[in-house]
Amino acid sequence: MFSNKEEFKKHFLQKLEMMCGKSFAESTKEDQFDTLGHMIREYVSTNWIKTNERYRSEDQRQVYYLSIEFLLGRLLLHNLINLGIDQVVEEGLCELGIDLDCMTEVETDAGLGNGGLGRLAACFLDSLASLGLPGHGCGIRYKHGLFEQKIVEGYQVELPELWLRHGQVWEVRKADFAVEVPFWGHVQAASDHERLSFHHMDAETITAVPYDVPMVGYHNDTVNTLRLWNAEPSLFPIHKDILKYKRETEIVSEFLYPDDTHDEGKILRLKQQYFLVCASINSIVKRYHVKHKDLRNLHRHVCIHINDTHPVLAIPELMRVLMDLGGLGWDEAWEITTQTISYTNHTTLSEALEKWPIRIFQPLLPRIYMIVTEINERFCHLLWERYPGDWNRIERMAIIAHDQVKMAHLALVGSFSVNGVAALHTEILKHREMKDFYEVFPQKFNNKTNGITHRRWLLKSNPELTSLITEVIGDSWVNKPEKLKELLKFHNDAAFLTQLQRIKQENKQHLAQIIKDQSGMIVDPSSIFDVQVKRLHAYKRQLLNVFHIMHIYNRLKEDPHYLFYPRTFIFGAKASPGYYYAKKIIKLINSVADKVNDDPDVRDKLKVVFLENYRVSLAERIFPAADISEQISTASKEASGTGNMKFMMNGALTVGTLDGANIEIRDLVGDDNIFIFGLNADEVLNYKGYHSIEYFHYDKRIRRIVEQLTNGFFSGVDDEFEAIYDSLLIENDQYFVLRDFDSYVQTQIAVGQTYEDRNKWLKMSLTNIAHSGYFSSDRTINEYARDIWKIKGAAH
Ligand SMILES: *Cc1c(COP(=O)(O)O)cnc(C)c1O
Repeated sequence: MFSNKEEFKKHFLQKLEMMCGKSFAESTKEDQFDTLGHMIREYVSTNWIKTNERYRSEDQRQVYYLSIEFLLGRLLLHNLINLGIDQVVEEGLCELGIDLDCMTEVETDAGLGNGGLGRLAACFLDSLASLGLPGHGCGIRYKHGLFEQKIVEGYQVELPELWLRHGQVWEVRKADFAVEVPFWGHVQAASDHERLSFHHMDAETITAVPYDVPMVGYHNDTVNTLRLWNAEPSLFPIHKDILKYKRETEIVSEFLYPDDTHDEGKILRLKQQYFLVCASINSIVKRYHVKHKDLRNLHRHVCIHINDTHPVLAIPELMRVLMDLGGLGWDEAWEITTQTISYTNHTTLSEALEKWPIRIFQPLLPRIYMIVTEINERFCHLLWERYPGDWNRIERMAIIAHDQVKMAHLALVGSFSVNGVAALHTEILKHREMKDFYEVFPQKFNNKTNGITHRRWLLKSNPELTSLITEVIGDSWVNKPEKLKELLKFHNDAAFLTQLQRIKQENKQHLAQIIKDQSGMIVDPSSIFDVQVKRLHAYKRQLLNVFHIMHIYNRLKEDPHYLFYPRTFIFGAKASPGYYYAKKIIKLINSVADKVNDDPDVRDKLKVVFLENYRVSLAERIFPAADISEQISTASKEASGTGNMKFMMNGALTVGTLDGANIEIRDLVGDDNIFIFGLNADEVLNYKGYHSIEYFHYDKRIRRIVEQLTNGFFSGVDDEFEAIYDSLLIENDQYFVLRDFDSYVQTQIAVGQTYEDRNKWLKMSLTNIAHSGYFSSDRTINEYARDIWKIKGAAH
């Protein structure tokens, strides 16, 4: 459509006048963004249609990735790069006096996710399309994505977010593919032709309307689909009060739940889950019927993957469709369902395992509840045969127990594959958290270590590093990221290392500018940028990082000559609005920042920055500028982490515990190229007799810091940090912050010393970049495709 910049300019100007009804001179930045966005979507349409036709004619098995979250971020530049037209467009725009970088800033992030889990889903869609694999996303088109965070006087304030202002550019509404989703009502059994059938009576229905977003593959003409469902009133509601009904309907796709670790226990959340699942399964089956008659072959043509347990009702819903609509018997339907559904587990934190009280579940989803009850009974029967008399075990493993439906158990029983997201995590699932299930279904368990798309997290976010790499090893690494290993031969190349340093320095200057724009603060780009960005959670231990900063501050105050390489500590983190403790940690970080940044005694050595509103587009600026990656969760608690991989790929060195994928990073780069500290997972899980109070009594540094939480050291309210104080000393510090403190401080001393040997540091950085190809989500997706989904890419 535009192979050169002249053609592009012509199209762009024509399109702008047509779309906006304005001349170019009158147009705003937003007009220009919308114009380019629509041009790209149209440009993509041909290949979108062709890809669908190809999948249909080749009759390839299709994968549907069901996820309650897709944290996409911005799509403009990402799409331009994948289409291979970023340069033409950039040059064309430049001649019109438009800066492409400025234009990309107009786009609001599609923030339909909380953090790692949603971002993983987005990386997977990019890899699926870029590998030419027939895999599509199914999600919810939340009107408001994750809240926008402001920091006011050190506290988090949440503002509603409205991504759809600009997100609309990418989506296509497909009203003719709408699905009716039934809630409430009751089930009537009837026997016709000697067969029992079930009918859902007096249901209130909500219409699910799909909005399709094209997922553009990298330089390969493949365009897959992300289908986002919007909740709308049905045409003929049985209701009298139309306005009330409209309100109750639309709210289903209004908000993303701002928490991915705690079960909210809200009816609305369960409604969202069934809404996603029912709409997706029915549209998948409809598409299947275009070519195939017999539902008994469904599993040969379709694979449905559930991202954590939020979409686990796909299991009873598929049973319902196969039996109630398809007329199959239970055994046949069960056989097909359990060969169609695969499941990824994302956590071992017990408070995060979803459970729904029957009193909420049953009335809302009467037919689905019946089916779950039947699945449970048959499963318990199977257990009884295998473990006769072992009531304890059966009670532990049942899907329904103590008036609750256990979603993870349903997923384990109703799927053919269960995977963890890093080697350690999968081992913990097999031998601890899901030990009972592993004993019954060992063949289901497998590991798929997470990954990140190097196209967004290196090509797009760090173009200078990308160019340097391509300059020295050619560009074949872009399609085969494992080839980044070829960089190892520049280990002793002084000129190369100098380039590496220059690029890091420029990226740090860029981030320093963003910090200045956001907060007015001046930070020194030649100081060490020590970064912890991720959701705020007790197990991620931002508190340990803060304690280290307080310790350095205390030391510098005691001894102004204490040798300490200047550091800028950078945080970014959103706390779930209802997570009291996490919000106190945000306040603490900001209080420490105020204390430290205002103090002339430490001014040249220590700075603390809290960057507001951490999100994908900000993350893209942060990773390339980091020297240190803080991955300091209590060992065994972080399933994988993916932030750790983004840092590594951009040359930051990890300071971390042996947790999640940190272990695999260590295995690849070796102990000499990473800073490991603290308890390991076995030590945490088998710890006997921890008494945090002893660390408080016997370690003066700790006592001083913990006392500073409540002794007026921070100006303002005295009891502000009481909850933190109590968690450490009254609740015995369940995340071992005090236990790991000394080890962390020692390791940080080693970090500072290593940084002073700049040559050594750069070599370490190079080693990390060179081994980061393993963490491309292309590798992860190839493993899912080979081991779980059994699908192949198009030969091209
Ligand atoms: C990668 C990413 C995460 C996940 O970070 P972890 O350190 O793995 O918890 C969360 N939020 C955003 C915006 C990300 O890009």
